[in-house]
Amino acid sequence: MIINGERVDSVSGETYITYNPATGEPVAEVAKATIEDAERAVQAARQSFDYGKWRHFPVNKRARILNKIAAIMRSRFNELVELEVLDSGKSISAAQGQVMQAIEDFEFYASAIVGHRGNINNVPSGFFNYVLKEPVGVCAQIIPWNYPLMMAAWKIAPAIAAGCSVVVKPASLTPLTAIVLTEICHEAGVPAGVVNIVPGPGSLIGDYLVEHPKVDKVAFTGSTPIGKDIMAKASKTLKRVTLELGGKSPNIVFEDADIDAAVAGSLFGIFYNTGQSCEARSRLYLHENIYDDFMEKFVEKTKQLKLGNPMDPSTHVGAIISRNQLEVIDSYVKSAIEEGATVLVGGHEVKVQGFEGGYWYAPTIITNVTPKMKVVQEEIFGPVVVVQKFKEEKEVIEAANDTIYGLGSAIWTKDHARATRVATQIQAGIVMVNCPFSAFPGTPFGGYKQSGFGRELCIETLDLYTEDKSVLAYYGTRPINPFGV
Ligand code: NAP
Ligand code: MG
Repeated sequence: MIINGERVDSVSGETYITYNPATGEPVAEVAKATIEDAERAVQAARQSFDYGKWRHFPVNKRARILNKIAAIMRSRFNELVELEVLDSGKSISAAQGQVMQAIEDFEFYASAIVGHRGNINNVPSGFFNYVLKEPVGVCAQIIPWNYPLMMAAWKIAPAIAAGCSVVVKPASLTPLTAIVLTEICHEAGVPAGVVNIVPGPGSLIGDYLVEHPKVDKVAFTGSTPIGKDIMAKASKTLKRVTLELGGKSPNIVFEDADIDAAVAGSLFGIFYNTGQSCEARSRLYLHENIYDDFMEKFVEKTKQLKLGNPMDPSTHVGAIISRNQLEVIDSYVKSAIEEGATVLVGGHEVKVQGFEGGYWYAPTIITNVTPKMKVVQEEIFGPVVVVQKFKEEKEVIEAANDTIYGLGSAIWTKDHARATRVATQIQAGIVMVNCPFSAFPGTPFGGYKQSGFGRELCIETLDLYTEDKSVLAYYGTRPINPFGV
């Protein structure tokens, strides 16, 4: 772990092993943080924030250091990609895109912070009011395993750009690239104590950070149940909270869509990152007139997806993160069968030659589902899509919104008016129109409803790492004496 700019062991001396999900083999031995380590990290962050120089650096200097972080990451691109693949089992093509985006996030916030400023408000003459944007303080940042480096970048970049100090808690399963990123931050010139990282069990370390009175903000990406728990616990000290939680995103194909584009985008929408994406388009709604045509192509292409060596650039679908997660996915598929659904493609574990010790699951298409089935309502977080047919626009909007979640959504149509109309009515933080991608640096990412709140990846994220301080001054010539005594 890295505390106060130094690579340190756990005070307990404890470590744990991380495994490559593609092979089941060990990758690294990692320090396992205890409460005492988390406390050391909070103290270091507090010290650097309260008495250090980072937040007082000219904004251009902070921006230059963020750009330097990006430059070092660029020069170590292949190493970061390889480490991400080893630690997470994802395909190299997915890892490359995510590492590149992590780099671009630092570049984006280096630029954005320079333009992030307060304002002057109209007040009665003789008075003067200006608003300062001040860093919120010490931030605990809790990261999931599905995008280990990219999620770390989404959190660290805007926070340190704003002048905050952070304690990062990576997912236990995938801590490695975030640790390297923390080293890179120091190499680039971030002072000691500003970025600290403590790998360790979320229920212990995450919890401690969330409850800690000296932590000002928690930014969490992970599951909805833990997000709720965090919000409740953070309320005791009224911490600022940002939550990026689960999803069950609808993907609607209208009869006038470009079918080939919709098939390709829907395939990517669910099977990218082995379906382990919060914004995975896991509920596919097809207009009845194009259902057969679409499904013929979709099934055919799903069967063509290549599972295999994650380091092979032609691999489409990587491993599942853990045996445990694979069993969760499989039990969802079994529940669908029990409830009367049809598994059209996949629906089982796969043995990949040369990777027999790994955790692999076949890309899976489920049909004959009804709206209340578990597989339609709950987030599976794996390569499983459920398909439903619709007739009317109104009906499909209602179906799309019939969920506790509201993160992503996609619509496929050539009718611009329809796209605009439907985009307005979907209850989700992101609407993709004829587009397979959910975000770029600069576009807001986050949810409606139980997918959380707060937007990351965009300029507005800087507002979540700053407080507005209103300075109201009087410059009039006559002294004011409101009591008149
Ligand atoms: P998770 O179990 O909620 O864990 C996420 C992080 O929280 C991990 O670092 C975990 O540590 C930590 N944690 C666990 N228990 C905690 C507690 N009581 N207090 C504080 N922190 C705690 O989620 P996951 O299984 O890793 O990730 C999958 C979930 O993340 C999915 O639901 C997915 O939709 C969501 N997700 C959302 C977004 C988004 O942007 N909206 C992006 C990616 C993922 P350990 O690793 O030690 O358990
Ligand atoms: Mg978990």
